[in-house]
Amino acid sequence: MGEVYDNCGVFGIYSRNSCVYDIYNALDFLQHRGQQFCGIAVYAEGVKQVTHHGRVGNAFTEADLNYLEGGRWGIGHVSLWERQPMSWSSRMGEISLAFSGNVINATEIIEQMKARGDAFYREYHTEILGKIIMASDDIVSGISRLAKMVKGAYSLVILARDGVYATRDVYGFRPLILGRDGNRYAVSSESRALQNLEMEVVRDVKPGEIVLVNEDGFHTLKQLASPRSAFCAFEWAYTASIDSIIEGLYVQEARHRLGVSLAERDLQERDIEAEIVAPVPMSGIGHALGYHAKSGLPYQEVFLYNRYADRSYTQINQMAREKMAKRKLSVLKYAVQGKRIVICDDSIVRGTQIRDKVRELKKAGAKEVHVRVACPPLLYTCDFGVSTRTMDELVARQFVVDGNIETMEELRRLEKWIADQIEADSVKYNSIEAFVGAIGKGRDELCLKCWDGLAPSGHLLE
Ligand code: SF4
Repeated sequence: MGEVYDNCGVFGIYSRNSCVYDIYNALDFLQHRGQQFCGIAVYAEGVKQVTHHGRVGNAFTEADLNYLEGGRWGIGHVSLWERQPMSWSSRMGEISLAFSGNVINATEIIEQMKARGDAFYREYHTEILGKIIMASDDIVSGISRLAKMVKGAYSLVILARDGVYATRDVYGFRPLILGRDGNRYAVSSESRALQNLEMEVVRDVKPGEIVLVNEDGFHTLKQLASPRSAFCAFEWAYTASIDSIIEGLYVQEARHRLGVSLAERDLQERDIEAEIVAPVPMSGIGHALGYHAKSGLPYQEVFLYNRYADRSYTQINQMAREKMAKRKLSVLKYAVQGKRIVICDDSIVRGTQIRDKVRELKKAGAKEVHVRVACPPLLYTCDFGVSTRTMDELVARQFVVDGNIETMEELRRLEKWIADQIEADSVKYNSIEAFVGAIGKGRDELCLKCWDGLAPSGHLLE
């Protein structure tokens, strides 16, 4: 599979008042999920829509917001990949759609639809979903058709004349959460957008559930059969913001427990002596705090985070990512001189960024640098809407040429090899078992494909 760039955030709202500023603010709180495109559509005697290249705060002008003013229900999107929402005039009236995820069998569906006479604007996955829905009698039967035709992941919102429809694929790979207050009902990729709009977080949309959000609240119109859930475990470890809650589990709590688990292994194995524990900011902070709580090592910042730099992971290409990574962190020399340091990170992808950080710490005078990684070794790419790399870019895959890591002995051999590659004094990962144990959800509720290569449904990797 080629590189997948999608890593998106969706938002939808029904309000007693004009909703454009709520959507604008919500997208700002979802900005970490994608920075290439942003868009808002509202319903006011039909769909009004504005999309932009760039970030919400910079891209939308006052004139855009004035144009969208007045609609009481609407949807918004931030994206790393496709410009969304997309809108159409159809037999269901004007509709607009935005989604987070990935259609694995996009090529096949597009060919089938073209053979039947359909035409595509850009062959976006958003178009595939929209056209399947619009070819049905109504939105609910359209969403039901999606579940039969589409392999992959989608959490989507549809703006229509009777409100905002929200649904997740039957596995629920990507999160989608409902919130409300006295005047507004909303749905969001992450709860932080709801919390920051001072709304109560109500619950997660269930895998396969079709919800209509309108002036009376949330209405489950249909529950499609869900063989099992497959919540993306990477959300808790990295993708989601630390102030979000997904499926009842705070992201902060999950990261803390992952850090505790790393410390427990060090306490058991007693093979290093360190003086401080530090995070690779920002996503390593929760893990380092957990490590600190369990190990008793003092927590110390050793990197200064440049708040004006973008998250390197969600940059669109490798050159942009590396450039951004360099701008992102600078070493606090005073804190590291002469120290033996444990640094906690969420994951190692290519290994180049963490190697640069280890080098910088040593250059600044660190005596030893021990790298502790919350996620197990990344051995597979994501098919479900998160921007990971091609297989041969994953550093762990260069050592584990075939198959998976089955035993602690195999994990230790890989860790030793990775430590050499990144010039660290030691490296340890959470094993898959330790990772799942720390998240505290059943293995059969989660997608762990990044690490074990198993698609949660047999048909997905045909
Ligand atoms: S493959 Fe990885 S990133 Fe993709 S949904 Fe599964 S756990 Fe999440």
